[in-house]
Amino acid sequence: MKSLWNDIEAKKYQTDLQLRVYTSRLLGRNSSLVLHGGGNTSVKIKEKNLFNEEEEIIYIKGSGWDLATIEEAGFSPVRIAPLLKLAKLKSLSDSQMVNELKSNTIRANAPSPSVETILHAILPYKYVDHTHADSIVTITNNQNGLARIQEIYGDEVVIIPYVMPGFDLAKTCAEKFSAEVTEKTKGMVLMNHGLFTFGETAPESYEMTIELVSRAEEYLEKHNAFSIKIEKQEITNKELRYDLAKLRWEISKAAGFPVILKRYGDERSLAFTRRKDVNTLSQQGPATPDHIIRTKRVPLIGRDINSYVAQYKEYFAANAPQNSEKITMLDPAPRVILDPELGMCTVGKTVKNAKIVSDIYQHTMDIIERSTALGGYMALPTKDLFAVEYWELEQAKLKKSSNAPIFTGEIVLITGVASGIGKACVDSFLQRGAAVIGLDLDSAVEELNKKPDFLGITCDVTDEKAITNALEKAIQTFGGLDMLVLNAGIFPQGCDINQLVTEHWRKVMSVNLDANLILMRECHPFLKLAPKGGRVAVIGSKNVPAPGSSVAAYSTSKAALNQLARVAALEWGKDGIRINTLHPNAVFDTKIWTEDVLQARAEAYQLTVEEYKTKNLLKVEITSHKVAELAAEICSPVFACTTGAQIPIDGGNERVI
Ligand code: ZN
Repeated sequence: MKSLWNDIEAKKYQTDLQLRVYTSRLLGRNSSLVLHGGGNTSVKIKEKNLFNEEEEIIYIKGSGWDLATIEEAGFSPVRIAPLLKLAKLKSLSDSQMVNELKSNTIRANAPSPSVETILHAILPYKYVDHTHADSIVTITNNQNGLARIQEIYGDEVVIIPYVMPGFDLAKTCAEKFSAEVTEKTKGMVLMNHGLFTFGETAPESYEMTIELVSRAEEYLEKHNAFSIKIEKQEITNKELRYDLAKLRWEISKAAGFPVILKRYGDERSLAFTRRKDVNTLSQQGPATPDHIIRTKRVPLIGRDINSYVAQYKEYFAANAPQNSEKITMLDPAPRVILDPELGMCTVGKTVKNAKIVSDIYQHTMDIIERSTALGGYMALPTKDLFAVEYWELEQAKLKKSSNAPIFTGEIVLITGVASGIGKACVDSFLQRGAAVIGLDLDSAVEELNKKPDFLGITCDVTDEKAITNALEKAIQTFGGLDMLVLNAGIFPQGCDINQLVTEHWRKVMSVNLDANLILMRECHPFLKLAPKGGRVAVIGSKNVPAPGSSVAAYSTSKAALNQLARVAALEWGKDGIRINTLHPNAVFDTKIWTEDVLQARAEAYQLTVEEYKTKNLLKVEITSHKVAELAAEICSPVFACTTGAQIPIDGGNERVI
């Protein structure tokens, strides 16, 4: 493992805390040291309080911060004196400990200090770095883990047997460390957990992490257990979207809420899922407490959700303390699915969560395979896995009332998203927590939004094959489809019927009507599997109830689409799918309405642009955003009892009313 310390870069960091920020980020840059908020670091600083008294303060990583991107504000300042007193107590419950940590911070708006704060405080060094280094975890989750660690480090590290994070771990470390520390001590290894290093300066502590981890890596390398050869895998190009959507539906049902399911069909994942011993290896559980919390106990092998759920219930019943009514069973749905055809699939309430699970399991696969090559992977006993998964603090988090956005875990497909109403719809649905698939003819769609919750696909919606390909990609990325917004359409130049060219007519019909039939037909099987019922929002037009002259093709296409939606409402009600249409009018912030066109049209009516834009009963301007908000709302539970409806959004129009 290479040190990432860079003298030029480091010059930008001057104070003790700034240097703490810098080396924390260096640790965070290496995913085999820490992953997604895992690990923690601290620095002890003497400061004067308001009474001019000197106090020793520990700045410790706050919860919710990631080492890779941490800033000074991400460190929580806690008084050390009371922490050292706490460490002498016989016992302290986790919630009491969290309360003490929070009460002893010296900044009211500081993030909650890490649950490992006391552990950092008792180590008598200015800088302390704690990581869940893959190689240490690989070696300690091994049949001869302890002997191997002793062989690698001799008396240069203090070894702590596995204890669950929290007060007991801090206390065990305090006692064992002070009893065993010598001048030779370079760090502390926590079995099945990770590594602590320390130093008087930030680089000293950081470089020690690199040194100790490198020695573990060299040991693995020496035993041919570091570079894992991945056998070439046959990658299927079979369509998987129906299987995946069914799986997602079953998992959502088991979880009790809609989930995102991401598929990883890469060679590495396939090789692992196709190992003959995948059952014995993967069913032992994850490698470190941090991973247990995020990926749950063990992965599902294959696709039999029912038996997984039954096993999970048994596991809970067998391990939950008899006398405790405080422990509620977590949802029994798996978070990782290993299937020889699908590869690895990961599950989360949000795309971000599903990605965290996959990152962690990618590392877990490495750890398991390396440890197996070393002689045998051996995870913690079931009771310890259970204790972490059902940790008091994790339960408390669950009980906090959830203010999740309404579309959390749901997936929407929107057409024509590169501009105008479609683009605004992307924002409205993302804001409500949905994962969004955006289709557009314009390849700019692929760069439209950098969020992992957004997938932009270049697609000509008049091309059937392009639509099915897009759906395949979409469902491999998010797992299913709950909502559909039919927005893509063209608004051609005005032309009277007696001048209307057949080709022009057909073109309008193919985009505004035919494409939507294909989309509806191809999306139906997935909408039917939406855990909360499928929803379709159709962007119609005021021209449906109140047509204008010179736009025959456009008006007719939208009227036919409207009728298609009404028939779908009749046919799909039994599948729990509702479909409603919006009829916007005079939405001027779209691509077709340039300043010049707007000016010309206003002049034709002898109006100012402002008057022209608000030419309706309510004298309001109809923007893309307002239409998008309504499109999102008609997919929300507010409209749970409505289907086949047509809702104008036009500021009030005499001809429509
Ligand atoms: Zn830890």
